[in-house]
Amino acid sequence: MSEQKINTKCVQAGYTPKNGEPRQIPIIQSTTFKYDTSEDMGKLFDLEESGYFYSRLQNPTCDMVAAKITALEGGSAGMLTSSGQAANFFALFNICETGSHIVSSSSIYGGTFNLISVTMAKMGIDVTFVSPDCTKEELDAAFQDNTRAVFGETIANPALTVLDIEKFARAAHDHGVPLIVDNTFPTPVNCRPIEWGADIVTHSTTKYMDGHGACIGGAVVDSGKFDWMAHAGKYPGLTTPDESYHGIIYAEKFGKEGAFITKATSQLMRDFGCVQSPQSAFILNLGLESLHVRMQRHVENGQAVAEFLSGRDEVVSVSYPGLKTDRYYETAKKYLPNGGCGVVSFELKGGRKAAESFMKKLKLAAIETHVADARTCCLNPATSTHRQMTDEQLAAAGIPAGLVRMSCGLEDKEDLIADLKQALG
Ligand SMILES: *Cc1c(COP(=O)(O)O)cnc(C)c1O
Repeated sequence: MSEQKINTKCVQAGYTPKNGEPRQIPIIQSTTFKYDTSEDMGKLFDLEESGYFYSRLQNPTCDMVAAKITALEGGSAGMLTSSGQAANFFALFNICETGSHIVSSSSIYGGTFNLISVTMAKMGIDVTFVSPDCTKEELDAAFQDNTRAVFGETIANPALTVLDIEKFARAAHDHGVPLIVDNTFPTPVNCRPIEWGADIVTHSTTKYMDGHGACIGGAVVDSGKFDWMAHAGKYPGLTTPDESYHGIIYAEKFGKEGAFITKATSQLMRDFGCVQSPQSAFILNLGLESLHVRMQRHVENGQAVAEFLSGRDEVVSVSYPGLKTDRYYETAKKYLPNGGCGVVSFELKGGRKAAESFMKKLKLAAIETHVADARTCCLNPATSTHRQMTDEQLAAAGIPAGLVRMSCGLEDKEDLIADLKQALG
């Protein structure tokens, strides 16, 4: 059979029941797994054979769902994590250590910005932030001898900038390091960064993949394309013996396709334990089964809302990569030909007061910090997440006081627009 289409993978990838087995993926709610002899178990601990022994490292339900996400992204191996934060931390820390340096797009999720610039800095890992719109020359200038990874988001949360993945991949590869792309907002239904040169893809599955606001989760997918051995000096964790696993050399034993995820599982999961529960993985998989259908509607609603808002006098500006007037329209056309996501941001005339009164009047759209689920929600950073900042500080950070971020859900777009109309009027 030829390679399946993405729609089919959403429904069926990751688990194929044998004769008489359950149709839906089984929830293996067990911390441990039983073996007949110590020798059998010893082989697992030596990474001589693959199998399960303790759910802090691996669990069959989680692995089935990870296999689906890996198939969706076109990767060689993948893993689930307890959250998107854990996924990005694992992806970076798997190849960085004290003394390493990261080049990152400055337009990324606030949680990831803190993770890299504050928490990882305490571990002795430095970062240089670059604008996603920088030239190749500016990007090249950000690299140092100790640079070990490049990081960016396909569509940034909440700025809605679109990453020129090929430009970032080329710069990363010219300097012998991998590109890690957080693909949370478009999901693999709308963009597959590996096809454009990304080496590792991460997700907050909490967003569209779950899609119902039910479970926190994350995922890391490896393309299997980065040649760690060709850059062995930079990645001793993958290319020299791991003393905590009897001297195994991951890149030698598991090859380009398996080394990254095997190391992240056997070292980082073992030591940090950021596992997703099998129950959460089961619920995540229910979301994945309809991801391709839902993303289409999120995009349709986002586009309709963005177009409606663009024509209103009360609105100063609208950011949505699907709008012809958007700064990222051309980049989005290339990387997101079927649309990006359902998140739209716009600035209201009248600053935080106008935003506050507008949001109070909304009936369908709830005020939440969440994005990317079935129910439309919105947020005014000035009165919530960025409440401690003055209007001047907000303006300097590129977040006007009247900015509203709206995550368009799966409702009828006519109802959403009617809600906006009455709240603006
Ligand atoms: C939400 C989000 C994260 C963090 O994910 P959690 O599941 O909340 O830990 C990381 N990256 C992006 C782009 C996000 O939107």
